[in-house]
Amino acid sequence: MLRFNFLLWAFLFFFFLRSFTQWFLTRLNVSHLRQHGDAVPEIFQEAIDREKLEKISAYSIDSARFGIRASLAQQAFFLMILLSGFLPWLVETLSRWDGGIILSGLFFFGALGLLTTLFQIPFDLYETFVIEQRYGFNTETLRLWLIDLLKGIALSALLGGALLCLILSLITKGGEHWWVWAWVLVGLLELLILWLYPVLIAPWFNKFEPIHDPELEQGIRALMEKVGLRPKGVWRMDASKRSKHTNAYFTGFGKNKRIVLFDTLLTSHTAEEILAVLAHEIGHWKKKHVLKQLLLAEMLSFAAFFILAQLLAWPLLYRTFGFPEPIPYVGLLLMGAFFGPLGYFAQPLGAALSRRFEREADDFALNLIQKAEPMINALKRLAVDNLANLFPHPLYAWFYYSHPPLVKRISRLKTLSPKLAEAINVS
Ligand SMILES: [Zn+2]
Repeated sequence: MLRFNFLLWAFLFFFFLRSFTQWFLTRLNVSHLRQHGDAVPEIFQEAIDREKLEKISAYSIDSARFGIRASLAQQAFFLMILLSGFLPWLVETLSRWDGGIILSGLFFFGALGLLTTLFQIPFDLYETFVIEQRYGFNTETLRLWLIDLLKGIALSALLGGALLCLILSLITKGGEHWWVWAWVLVGLLELLILWLYPVLIAPWFNKFEPIHDPELEQGIRALMEKVGLRPKGVWRMDASKRSKHTNAYFTGFGKNKRIVLFDTLLTSHTAEEILAVLAHEIGHWKKKHVLKQLLLAEMLSFAAFFILAQLLAWPLLYRTFGFPEPIPYVGLLLMGAFFGPLGYFAQPLGAALSRRFEREADDFALNLIQKAEPMINALKRLAVDNLANLFPHPLYAWFYYSHPPLVKRISRLKTLSPKLAEAINVS
């Protein structure tokens, strides 16, 4: 039985505050687009016509509406599982089997994960085969979608299972300071995953190969060597088997650092624009942005493990949600249920840091190629190809955006002369 004490009310307060904030921000963003979205911004004058603008607005509104509905439905589903008495029943059943904490924990999270995944399936299908299809993005077959789903389940079972085994064995056998060990070992495991991601995990979903175009290859080599990097670090990914969206990213660390360019980007952009995108990604590489983000994540993880260790044996936490006594794996879930909504409100900090890194990478690119036009043209084309919302509400962008809004980003590039960028840049 649930106990309606301060802890439950506090949980419900933050849980619904998150739902409300998400709904409010989406609504704000959509009405902002409706108000301002019928005139092409000056910067985009030649790149976008009226028809395109209407398509961008329609896509932005459709995906925003669907996104918030899916998110709220998933939250309602989680709340139902948490408050219906299903979990105490599951724990009771598992304790009768007597498989030990680790095995019970694996079953517990396995069942939860499976239920959540099943609930999510119709939303994923709708997003891919209705919304993305409607705007001409989807190129995925149902077969590939299913294979991806199964691979995703296998991967999260493997990685999540390993993580859970590690944490539960440390809780039961690691002594008083188990959480310090857990923090160190989980950090190392994450490092290992990040290191293996470009060479082991990503290739399981996509094919990666060197760039074939000889002219472009030469440009890439020249650019990479100019900043003292291996030209072999640039790869082409077959993103077009799933979607027509275009993108590029930088990933991995150590010897496995990679810049990945989507094949869709390579076919849609001119060589000069591709090199500008590449210069931006080189900026992320040279400025060690992945490493910096990792360090920040480890600091947060230290705080989270500390709090977890303080509260894991607190009987009231369990009784509030209908469990008779403290059980480590249940504690992990309950603490996760608290951390989720609280973490949501910390999101603007992460987004602000990410936007700062993006500006740094833009500055770096500007310095490297000494011209703003290729970068500006690449950003314009990215906006058009991906039907990116050109009118996000400032508050929405501040809360969520990992990149500065496009109009802002382009105007910034326009006003920054390469010389000025050099002054900002320390490299
Ligand atoms: Zn970037």
